[in-house]
Amino acid sequence: MFAARFIPGQKTLSSQDVPRPQAGPRDVVLRIRAAGVCHSDLHVLESDIPISSHPFTMGHEACGELVEVGPEVTGDFTLGALYVVHGPNPCGQCELCTQGQDNLCGAPGRDLVGLGADGAYAEYLKVPARSVIAVPAGIAPEVAAIATDAVLTPYHALKTLGGVKPGTSVLVLGLGGLGLNGVQVARALGARIVASDLRAENLATAERLGAHETVLAPELEQRLAGRAFDVVVDFVGAEGTFAPAQRLVRRGGTVVLVGLHTLQLGLSSVALINQQTRVQGAFWGTHQELKEVLQLIAEGHLQPQVETGRLRDVGHWLEKLKTGQVRSRVALLPDAD
Ligand SMILES: [Zn+2]
Ligand SMILES: [Zn+2]
Repeated sequence: MFAARFIPGQKTLSSQDVPRPQAGPRDVVLRIRAAGVCHSDLHVLESDIPISSHPFTMGHEACGELVEVGPEVTGDFTLGALYVVHGPNPCGQCELCTQGQDNLCGAPGRDLVGLGADGAYAEYLKVPARSVIAVPAGIAPEVAAIATDAVLTPYHALKTLGGVKPGTSVLVLGLGGLGLNGVQVARALGARIVASDLRAENLATAERLGAHETVLAPELEQRLAGRAFDVVVDFVGAEGTFAPAQRLVRRGGTVVLVGLHTLQLGLSSVALINQQTRVQGAFWGTHQELKEVLQLIAEGHLQPQVETGRLRDVGHWLEKLKTGQVRSRVALLPDAD
């Protein structure tokens, strides 16, 4: 079958013909129906994030049709139905897993799907059965695929880490794939939202998706002078967003850092201490949160923006992402049989 593989030391994916995976005792096999393309893939290819010293199939936003179930798998699984993959691929048994933080599972021998273990840029994907979730009726494969990271990550950042609830004032910095979903999540949670980006057209999209007010990035501090937000979410993670984030958060408020644009960022210790600001990193999301996200989409509370392309053109789409030519989120689809 076709697979686009990460080869250590190479800056582009390698298209290969590899054997179709077979389910181990506790695995399932999905026939990929959609695979989301994420900025993290670029970081791994550029070696900014040292993730693996061995080759693997990339792609960590997966939706597929269930085609095989291992003999020791228990629970309800329906052949032919759509499932998504919870990419953190937790063990389910360690302390973090059993205390509601399975996104952070660090059990030995466990790799993230598509970021160490084989992922979704292929015709078929084998994963542990505990890492898949059935897709509620009515959600298209490309939407379900990107829900697993591009919607789940903002949901985890805003709801769980930011504690956003009705009436919370939220400033969203960066309106790319994740930020625009962040606006929708904040809206669904009942927040008052100001959103900011460098690109005017993204401000218009954010307003359409529920932002109450938008500001072009260069005007941010001037326009918002004297205001302070309960929660500021930095979906960019550059000096140009993280510095104003620390100035625009209220006393005792929370800055949630999601974006990974720059690998080292400055903290203002005086502001941090005097205002007792909480700076909180955010990593992906939990199995339970992914179920909640799928439910919110099924009920129409979130409408993730997605563009589609051909799975075999994954290299082309990564290049487009790198050069800023992707407006929302891209999900790649296999060619029709
Ligand atoms: Zn990602
Ligand atoms: Zn675990």
